[in-house]
Amino acid sequence: MDANDMGSDLEKVLVSEAQIATRLDELAAQIDADYAGRELLLVGVLKGAVMVMADLSRRLHTDLKMDWMAVSSYGSGTKSSGVVRILKDLDTDLLDKHVLIVEDIIDSGLTLSWLVSNLRSRNPASLEIATLLRKPDAAKVDVDVRYIGFEVPNEFVVGYGLDYDERYRNLPFVGTLAPHVYQG
Ligand code: 5GP
Ligand code: MG
Ligand code: MG
Repeated sequence: MDANDMGSDLEKVLVSEAQIATRLDELAAQIDADYAGRELLLVGVLKGAVMVMADLSRRLHTDLKMDWMAVSSYGSGTKSSGVVRILKDLDTDLLDKHVLIVEDIIDSGLTLSWLVSNLRSRNPASLEIATLLRKPDAAKVDVDVRYIGFEVPNEFVVGYGLDYDERYRNLPFVGTLAPHVYQG
């Protein structure tokens, strides 16, 4: 699927498929260097992080395991509620593990700061965050993000795992929607 298949739903491409691939190569090299000689547990946050988890993990040479967590912070709209619920918890005990949270996007940072304190209470050996995208408001939140793919403007984006009402996750790039899509 490409920008043309999107018809009039898509406004513009913000991060292309090629840009994502190049950046993931760089982040994977950095992560491999940082975790050399250690076992890593990648924690993907469903559903948005599926694409970045698949493409990042396949670039890593570090000895790793993967687990998944599902939390909800958004309804079907475009604004964070600030309320986080665990829909699916991890299968793995985090005690003494080197944990890397893999996220699609950090917007308000509310979900992430909740997640970090939740996972920290399980006493991992280390806990870091990798995100494909970060929006400007995330800077206000007191959470250190070690690996960042791209800074994006304060617009609602879709594609590469990110949805609007569960659609557009399969786009291989990140883009913005035409206003008519969410204005009904
Ligand atoms: P936060 O709590 O940082 O505001 O947002 C957390 C979650 O909201 C993200 O993991 C993502 O699922 C969703 N989200 C935030 N911004 C966007 C966006 O621009 N587009 C989409 N599709 N989801 C977003
Ligand atoms: Mg997410
Ligand atoms: Mg969503």
